[in-house]
Amino acid sequence: MEQLITLEQVSKSFSANAKPVLEDIDLTINDGESIAILGPSGSGKSTLLSIIGLLDEPTAGDYLLRSENITALTRKQKSLVRNAHIGWIFQNFNLIASMTVLENVVQPMRFNKAIKSSEYIDRAKEALNDVGLLDKHATTPDKLSGGQQQRVAIARALVNKPALILADEPTGNLDQATGDEVMALLQALCDKGSTLIVVTHDESVAQRCKRRIRILDGRIDYDGK
Ligand code: ADP
Ligand code: MG
Repeated sequence: MEQLITLEQVSKSFSANAKPVLEDIDLTINDGESIAILGPSGSGKSTLLSIIGLLDEPTAGDYLLRSENITALTRKQKSLVRNAHIGWIFQNFNLIASMTVLENVVQPMRFNKAIKSSEYIDRAKEALNDVGLLDKHATTPDKLSGGQQQRVAIARALVNKPALILADEPTGNLDQATGDEVMALLQALCDKGSTLIVVTHDESVAQRCKRRIRILDGRIDYDGK
């Protein structure tokens, strides 16, 4: 399997004298993996995911993308890498309330130089079709159920066909049945080629993933099947 992202001796502190939130993390993520990140509240799961997803920077250590060390890139350069390669899904969906469903799904393509603006609508509709919500394209998010909103967020995350999908407690605001449906959908779409990392408290979600990583007190406590 080809290496997608490698973290080497990554640590993160939010203030100089406080205990680090992450300490000496060594982690390799390969193409095609599905990974669940588990651990108690406050253990550092979201911080780790934010570093993997280039939303936050480590205070020490190295970040390699396809074996290339990109630690020293500027924030701006990293955001370009993020927009091109990474799709994010959040617990609170983070859809833009003033935009239609279709416009929400179009947004990530505006940051992707590889996609022409003439393709935006067709690609957004294709992504909505993949999550079973093409008929809702003209509506606004407030008219949708939580499960439907999360499916729109999945379409938005997948529309750039990113190498990596990151989801931070994506089923945390959904009931069990809806959460199971959302995860099944996410997994099916990732089976088409994206790598998936999901932070979750939900054992049924974790069981869908082939690898599990447990974080305890800012360190990797378990990494295996
Ligand atoms: P988890 O997702 O496992 O619940 P987090 O990664 O959100 O944990 O947080 C880990 C620790 O880092 C917590 O103690 C939290 O308070 C702290 N933390 C997270 N983000 C920040 C921040 N922006 N500033 C200061 N402390 C933070
Ligand atoms: Mg968290």
